Amino acid sequence: MTKNPTYLDHNATTPLRATALNAVMSVLSEVGNPSSIHSFGRRARKHIETARQQIADSLDVSSGQVFFNSGATEGNNTILKGFSGQRILMSAIEHSSAIDCTVSRNLVPVTVDGVVDLNAFEQMAHDIRPALVSIMLVNNETGVIQPIAETSRIAKSVGALVHCDAVQAYGRIPFTREELGVDFLTLSSHKIGGPQGVGAIITSPGITLPKLLEGGGQERRSRAGTENTAGITGFGAAAAEASSKISDFQKLGLFRDKIEEQILKSPSVKIYGQNGPRVANTTFCTINRVSGETLLMAFDIEGIAISSGSACSSGTVKPSHVLRAIGDAMGINTGHSLASLRISLGHTTTEKDIEHFIKVWNTIGTRLLKD
Ligand code: PMP
Repeated sequence: MTKNPTYLDHNATTPLRATALNAVMSVLSEVGNPSSIHSFGRRARKHIETARQQIADSLDVSSGQVFFNSGATEGNNTILKGFSGQRILMSAIEHSSAIDCTVSRNLVPVTVDGVVDLNAFEQMAHDIRPALVSIMLVNNETGVIQPIAETSRIAKSVGALVHCDAVQAYGRIPFTREELGVDFLTLSSHKIGGPQGVGAIITSPGITLPKLLEGGGQERRSRAGTENTAGITGFGAAAAEASSKISDFQKLGLFRDKIEEQILKSPSVKIYGQNGPRVANTTFCTINRVSGETLLMAFDIEGIAISSGSACSSGTVKPSHVLRAIGDAMGINTGHSLASLRISLGHTTTEKDIEHFIKVWNTIGTRLLKD
């Protein structure tokens, strides 16, 4: 690996926070199944309940509304499969872990700014009368913030329950479950500086969580399987820190703007969602007439990690479903001659990283981005 690499792929995963690492390491060195009634088990249980309270506090819910699992892919599958066979209305830009796990769904289009089209949503909600509405709070590719309070209000007016994938919003913009008016929220630990392989679903009071895994009474009989005690403890520590430092995250907007000012000097670059409400850390752009893979490799050789969009769909040369959905609104075919790049900053990003990126962009630009 290049000396002093620059990591600008925080939407894929963000480095572990020191507090989370310490929490994980100390619990990993202990023994105890949290379901055991002896003192070792009770100590493990205590770690989990501390983390549950930390997450509950960060979203202004009670600890009984927090259910741990293995991450947001499981969270999204739990909710969407729980409604299988019933009508589901979701946006066309949901994460693949939501969009790919149900067939009984209708997709709401987005506007040219990558925001769910509220008029279309309202019309479809009245026509379809869904049992569940599922719309993410922040899109993982564009960083665009979705109008969840409005979509929830419309969903409730037609009697639907509401699910929201809040993975890319948690720790980045302030919100509570109640403000969003949702019944199920999915969260992932590794997007906020906790360990990978841990997540949670937050429910509204009195709502029963659908069951994905059977065969054990863990998580108040909702999710079978021995809990990942160390991971959950790290998630709790990361949640407490990230939610107390949202204002630091928002300062990343200054770095993001510097990058955008620079890359927009090339007329072949288009930034998506720039006119919509966005989280502070994400730039998603397309570049005409170059290959995304060539660009990513050129950056990688220079020690800069960025992505061609969602990490879960990269490795394919097709444009992502998010880009296609925005392209549909713009009336353009995003399938040809377009490379897409996602640059996402995070809690470890420094001024030096931005300078490094801009320097490499300019070098690569003179080679690859000439019009
Ligand atoms: N939803 C969104 C919006 C995401 O960005 C991701 C991670 N790429 C997931 C769900 C899946 O989360 P996990 O990695 O915890 O399974």
